[in-house]
Amino acid sequence: MPWINAERCNGCGLCVRACPVYAVRLEATATTPRAFIDRSACVLCDACRDVCPERAVRSDREQVPEAVAANMAMAYDYVSRYETFVEQKGQLARTLQHFRVRLAVAERTIRQLEALGDRPVPELRALLEEDASTSHSRAN
Ligand code: SF4
Ligand code: SF4
Repeated sequence: MPWINAERCNGCGLCVRACPVYAVRLEATATTPRAFIDRSACVLCDACRDVCPERAVRSDREQVPEAVAANMAMAYDYVSRYETFVEQKGQLARTLQHFRVRLAVAERTIRQLEALGDRPVPELRALLEEDASTSHSRAN
């Protein structure tokens, strides 16, 4: 998911015009306008990154260390709510399980997306819908 480094953005608006789903907008600041990405609307096409003359549109790959640090802080916060060593170990195990499930979801998603290969759009859509309904009925 792309994000905007506000310190680099000059407010030129090229990314706003390049976005095919209108997920980027300029927001007023005390100085110049800055681009803002609506993450719920973004379809990950990278067009905004391609046109930005300031390299202000950044990849979330760069935010991995911060994301890991936030997860570690969360894990520490949860564990520290327990007093005994045994309770803390139990909480740590539950936190590990939480991240293992997220990892399993990501790995399975990647495998399924890779399996779709180079299919034409109508076929791809049918497969995605079929998989979504299979997952939904499995969950119920
Ligand atoms: S193209 Fe780059 S510099 Fe221009 S508004 Fe978008 S993010 Fe800012
Ligand atoms: S990655 Fe594509 S969809 Fe997402 S904000 Fe940039 S141009 Fe828009």
